[in-house]
Amino acid sequence: MPQLSRRHFVLSTAFATALGLTERLFIPAAVAATEEPTIGHYKYKVGEIEVTALYDGIWKKPHDPAFIKNASVDETKAALAAAGLPNDYMPIPLTVVVLTIEGKHVMIDAGSGAQWQPTAGRLHENMVAAGIDPKKIGTILISHFHPDHIFGLMHRDSNLPIYPDAELIVSRTEYEWWTAPGRVEKLPEARKDLGKRINAVFPKWKNFTFIDEEKDVAPGVRLIQAPGHTPGHSAFLVSSGNEQLMISNDVAYVPALLAPHPEWQGAYDQDGPTAVTTRRALLDRVIADKMMICGAHFPFPGAGSFAKDGDAYLFTPVTI
Ligand SMILES: [Zn+2]
Repeated sequence: MPQLSRRHFVLSTAFATALGLTERLFIPAAVAATEEPTIGHYKYKVGEIEVTALYDGIWKKPHDPAFIKNASVDETKAALAAAGLPNDYMPIPLTVVVLTIEGKHVMIDAGSGAQWQPTAGRLHENMVAAGIDPKKIGTILISHFHPDHIFGLMHRDSNLPIYPDAELIVSRTEYEWWTAPGRVEKLPEARKDLGKRINAVFPKWKNFTFIDEEKDVAPGVRLIQAPGHTPGHSAFLVSSGNEQLMISNDVAYVPALLAPHPEWQGAYDQDGPTAVTTRRALLDRVIADKMMICGAHFPFPGAGSFAKDGDAYLFTPVTI
């Protein structure tokens, strides 16, 4: 695999064909989609399944030496620059995907609900602009219980459910870890408020379905166990016809960092070594099976492809 300029990368037809990817996914663009997209919704297909990427916002996180446990701020800045991204802050965009399967809407995670960073919380606005009625979301597959993925399930002050009629599907491991007796006391200080909110809200809700193993959770969608980021973190594999999409959620987090440095352990990874093992296994599978991959914190529209690059990876984002 040649080293490609990612800032001005244009995916060639030959490359897309070699990967067996759907060419319509790739719309060449001159710049990496790192700043606010002008249109915060984008549709593409995986076989018969329609995928709608919905932009929630971006956290322009100030650099913090603790952000990556085994890399310095200078190293993370260098990785951002090498990917053609601004590096005066850490860009953490947030995208939510909705799958439309046989006319029904299946959403993966719920975004931040404008309760994470002031520069995020645009999921509903972009959902409506994309022609999807939030009341028609019938199923929500939850990857893990971090704020940017679940605060969009609950109203800011009342904690009342935003999707009271949707089925909420999550791995039993994730649910039981966060709601275990005594968990809040054991959480690090920075996670205690999150733990308290989860325990005050979720046990009262009756619309959860818990999944014990890897299994189909919607037509053509399989829950894949991907622990490390959190104990029960899940990815979701979408299959239709001969096309596949791995919705990886936070396994590869910000790929500008973790594609060239898959061994980096983020402060956000609750079990760093397990997160690294999961990341390598999932990316190797995506490459071996020539599939597209989505990530919640990939540059909007939150999708791309990976290739092997020695012991690391090369990430090519879809740009629009
Ligand atoms: Zn996240």
